[in-house]
Amino acid sequence: MAKLLPSDFSAAPIDALLTAHGLRRTSAARLVLGWLLAHPDTSYTHAQLQAALLGSTELALDRVTLYRLIDRLTQVGLLLCRVDASRVRRYQAMPTSVHAIPHFECQSCHRDSPLAGALQASGDDLERAAQTALEALKALGYQGMSMDFAVRGVCVDCATGAAA
Ligand SMILES: [Zn+2]
Repeated sequence: MAKLLPSDFSAAPIDALLTAHGLRRTSAARLVLGWLLAHPDTSYTHAQLQAALLGSTELALDRVTLYRLIDRLTQVGLLLCRVDASRVRRYQAMPTSVHAIPHFECQSCHRDSPLAGALQASGDDLERAAQTALEALKALGYQGMSMDFAVRGVCVDCATGAAA
């Protein structure tokens, strides 16, 4: 894999996000947020993220700095933190759109799947309701919003024993 420098990430939107959330625009913050935004569908544990970043950048990023940064980014809502069934925290970029896509998190096989197909028309209703709520908040002056629309339980495959 080619080595990436912090400057390889399109810095302007990332800087804008950091500023909008009251964070300092450090190289480390740009790198971590840039990496997670570039891999929006993957959630990482602390260790996985550190390994991924170490393999892809020249920037020295020690563990403590990385942990603090992840905590900070999560506190301000730029990262989504989920705890998996082994009680390990996993982080991924918060979807930047204000669109809430209903998805299902299986507590047994840990697959994360969109629910649009399963919900059909009610899925559209849910998305519309979420969109309306966010627009109402935006009109009141709230900023940087995102919504995580997760249904948790046991998926059909796991429930019927079909999963390998
Ligand atoms: Zn499952």
